Formats: sequence, C-alpha cells, structure tokens
Amino acid sequence: VLFLGTGAREPSVERGVAAELVIRGGERILVDCGEGTQRQMLLSTVGIGGLSTILLTHLHADHVLGLPGLLATFSDTREKPLLIAGPAGARSLIDGFRTHFGDLHFDLDVREVVSGEVIGRDGYRLLALPARHDGAALGWELAEDQRPGHLDPIRAARHGVREGPALARLSEGQDVRVNGHLVASASVVGPPQPGRRVVFSGDTRPTDLLARAAGGADLLVHEATFLSRDRDKARATGHTTAAEAAQAAAAAGVRALALTHRSRRYSTEEVLAEARQYFPEAFAPEDFDVVEIPLPEHGCPRLVSGPRAPDRGSG
Ligand SMILES: [Zn+2]
Ligand SMILES: [Zn+2]
Repeated sequence: VLFLGTGAREPSVERGVAAELVIRGGERILVDCGEGTQRQMLLSTVGIGGLSTILLTHLHADHVLGLPGLLATFSDTREKPLLIAGPAGARSLIDGFRTHFGDLHFDLDVREVVSGEVIGRDGYRLLALPARHDGAALGWELAEDQRPGHLDPIRAARHGVREGPALARLSEGQDVRVNGHLVASASVVGPPQPGRRVVFSGDTRPTDLLARAAGGADLLVHEATFLSRDRDKARATGHTTAAEAAQAAAAAGVRALALTHRSRRYSTEEVLAEARQYFPEAFAPEDFDVVEIPLPEHGCPRLVSGPRAPDRGSG
C-alpha cells in the first residue's frame, strides 16, 4: 500500500490529501483521490498506469478533487476500462466533472454501492464497509481469495505419486487413481491458506461494525485526524483519535495499523506515541511511504520508504 496523501482536510507543504494506492502484482487500486493525487503518483515514480479501480470512501473535497484532472489525462491516453465505486452521490459527482474531461475513449463504470456490497474481481474481492461520518460514507476491504493448501510430497510419495500430471491434479484438489487405488487430494494436501486482507476506514467515527469487519486483517489503514486531547473535536466532526484507531486495531486483532488523514497540528511522533499505548504495531506513514504486506507465512507487514522520484528533495 503506497501512501500518496496522509494529510487531513487540505494539502500542506509536507502532505497531500487522501489517496492510497494498492499495488498488487501489475494491478493498481486507488482508494480516494484527493487534490494533487495524479502528481503524487508521478512523483512516487509508480506513475498512473495499471490503474483498474478507484474506490471512494465519501465525497468530501479532500477525497475526490483529484478525479477531474486524472480523468482528463485518461481521456487522451487510456483505453482499458476503469471502475469507480463509491457511496450514494458518486455518479452525480462524476457527471458534474464531465465538463472537465470531455469524451472518454474507454469504458468508465461508475457504481454506487452500500455497505455490505461485494465487487468480485479476479483473485480478490472488494467489500464496502460501514462508516460513520458526515453524509454517505464507506470503508473498503480488499480481500484476496484463499490459496490452495500445500501438497506434502512425502505423503504423496507414500501413495505412489512422485511426479507428473497425477501430482499436479492432487495439488489442484482432484482425487486421482494410482495402481488401482484412489488417492484423495485431502490426504496429501493441507488446508487452504488465507489470502491477504487490507481494510481502509475512510473518514469515520470508530464503529463496532468496522472493527468487526476488520477482524484479523493483515493491515488496517485507519484515519487518525485528532489526538485524545481534541477528542471533542473528533466527536463533533465525525473523525477518530489516534488512541481510538489503535483501540479499534487491538479489538479487531489486525496484524498492523497505519494511521493516516492526520492533522498538521500534531507531529508524527505525538500521533505514534498515543497510538502505540494501545497498539504497538502502529505505523504513521508519511507521503510516499509504503506498507508491504507479505503473505502471512512470510512475516509481518512492514513500513518502508517509498519509491520516490530521485530528484526530489528530502522535503
Ligand atoms: Zn477527509
Ligand atoms: Zn470527510
């Protein structure tokens, strides 16, 4: 997950506004598209290619104002279809932007969804989650399909299967007949392995429903607009404090937490110090940082400096 904008409300010199890019193989999925997202993608050196999907959490300016510019660029250059999915109002928002980008030469599918809706994709699914903010708002989950279990070659050999198509069929879950007796795939292949799951809170007050949906996720990307000393402001504006986000992560039993949508009134250190009292595996990524999510058996998610354009100063 590449963090393109970690600031809240308006861009600052240090931070862009809401946008996270999920990079999965050759495919890219953008979650929110705040003002300046296109340029952040270029600066990140990842570029704007490979984007298949844009998920919107809600329609506040700091989450959507990058769309008209990005779509204007795509109107000249793009041929592949693009899906934009968001809460109620997403369609009229995009229609309103049409004067900015004119005729598109690709198939733009804009879908309005409600919490609980699932969008099936090749190898994973996107699930709209409930959020409690000002107006229609969603969180999003990206959940990979289960992977087939591991074939135990020693057990297979004991059944007389050492190589060839029979071994391949067993690993794909099919039973095979060897020398007149049946070898069940389940007797040589372990249980299916879970895929990876990432949950994005969007802008929201903490909710039990979201925490439940995030249960056991590999990474929870949660907004942390405020610190506890401003908890009244968080409550009044439909946002979350760093402590509340960390408590939600702990309750959900996620493997890692990334705090974003942070107000510039706080330092990164302050936000982390508050969150880590409740959830030690909290990260506070800066723009262009990446959280890598290995398959569960290959270790925990980790924060790494992102692929940033080489000619850019340290900022
Ligand atoms: Zn926001
Ligand atoms: Zn908002």
